Amino acid sequence: MNMITNHMPTAELQALDAAHHMHPFTDGAELAAKGVRIITKASGVTLTDSEGYEILDAMAGLWCVNIGYGRDELSDVAARQMKQLPYYNTFFQTSHVPAIALSARLAELAPGDLNHVFYAGSGSEANDTNMRLVRHYWAAKGKPDKKVIISRHNAYHGSTMAGASLGGMTPMHEQGGLPIPDVVHIGQPHWYAEGGDMSPEEFGLLRARELEAKIAELGEDKVAAFIAEPVQGAGGVVIPPSTYWPEIQRICDAHEILLIADEVICGFGRTGNWFGSQTFGIRPDIMTIAKGLSSGYVPIGGSIVCDEVANVVANAGDFNHGYTYSGHPVAAAVALENLRILEEEKIVDHVNDVAGPYLAEKWGQLADHPLVGEAKSVGLMATIALTPDKSSRANFASEAGMIGLRCRERCFANQLVMRHVGDRMIIAPPLVIKPAEIDTLVERAARSLDETYASIKSDGLLKAA
Ligand SMILES: *Cc1c(COP(=O)(O)O)cnc(C)c1O
Repeated sequence: MNMITNHMPTAELQALDAAHHMHPFTDGAELAAKGVRIITKASGVTLTDSEGYEILDAMAGLWCVNIGYGRDELSDVAARQMKQLPYYNTFFQTSHVPAIALSARLAELAPGDLNHVFYAGSGSEANDTNMRLVRHYWAAKGKPDKKVIISRHNAYHGSTMAGASLGGMTPMHEQGGLPIPDVVHIGQPHWYAEGGDMSPEEFGLLRARELEAKIAELGEDKVAAFIAEPVQGAGGVVIPPSTYWPEIQRICDAHEILLIADEVICGFGRTGNWFGSQTFGIRPDIMTIAKGLSSGYVPIGGSIVCDEVANVVANAGDFNHGYTYSGHPVAAAVALENLRILEEEKIVDHVNDVAGPYLAEKWGQLADHPLVGEAKSVGLMATIALTPDKSSRANFASEAGMIGLRCRERCFANQLVMRHVGDRMIIAPPLVIKPAEIDTLVERAARSLDETYASIKSDGLLKAA
């Protein structure tokens, strides 16, 4: 069999990478100086790099390898589908069995009357679709002025022009002239960072009501949709106060605003239900999906759309939108097999009944660490806030993210992939993680915290802003 193997010494691979490969979300010069880490294989929850070093991947790649690495069923299905029909499009009144079967399956799995799927190659593309879809929908209903999309600061909805505009990441907006017109942002329900002396419940209501105020300011006849992640992922695993989502739902219902739940991370078991919307009692009109849909084995994303929106769009002539790879047969077949494994192996129940509660208990104990201001989780996504002063939830005096980066580097050295968002540390391990592996994860995290604490103390960085 022809495989792309580790055919060169690591240093040579690093030199080629530095010379020819532009990395996403990376300081290129810094990386070239340091040398990239090269991952060569993976199995279950464990990665192996080009030096043979094994690392527990507590981020499931980029929040996507829900069923874990190394499932031959998916590669077998991909090979079979490539032989049968490697490609055909879904434009111009054609279809194929994988896209049909996956659409029917997703309609069964998705809550309520979310029964129609429009495919994309990624989560970003799916959110581009959503933006055009909701505007087209309102125009078809005779309300072409209803086109503003309201999102939130520190949201992540992808990296295309529309995706990054919908997102609320300032460093992304600063490059390339974003956001594009008619996308506006309100505050995020991030109690730990922004809630001050309010209770989380009070703060959740306050932030939800910013949506109502924004709708009033713009005029109900100008607003097409509100988009949000059930739990902000890339923003730092921001688990909203219990009061937040019910109030958002009430406001969307009261003002005829479509609700788009970006389920790219929360979907397919992450929060202990098939979708984050079920965990938080959200009734979206559209859900964005990607990542866990194929467990990252092949790129695929999409929008699951409710009956009303799909029917209006279906009866409004051509929808002049689509991607060459919308519903790609190999990607659809792999996604379908991934869903079969999630279901037959009861992996969502495993998150809800076993791994989620176990992680909550063990992870929660990290809150006792002197460097930790809070330790929270929902299902298998979790966060800790690093702080120099637990009682006041203070930030560090040093540049934001510097301590988080140090901690991430300690994690790497301790064979653990944990990501940092500013000075928060986050995890989202494969959903198949076993309790014994959670023990290892939390042990390595605790050791990394100890080492970070010792190092910043000796460097005089344990100072509040
Ligand atoms: C990752 C992500 C996206 C973007 O998906 P891509 O496949 O990277 O384009 C969109 N929304 C959320 C919530 C995400 O986490």
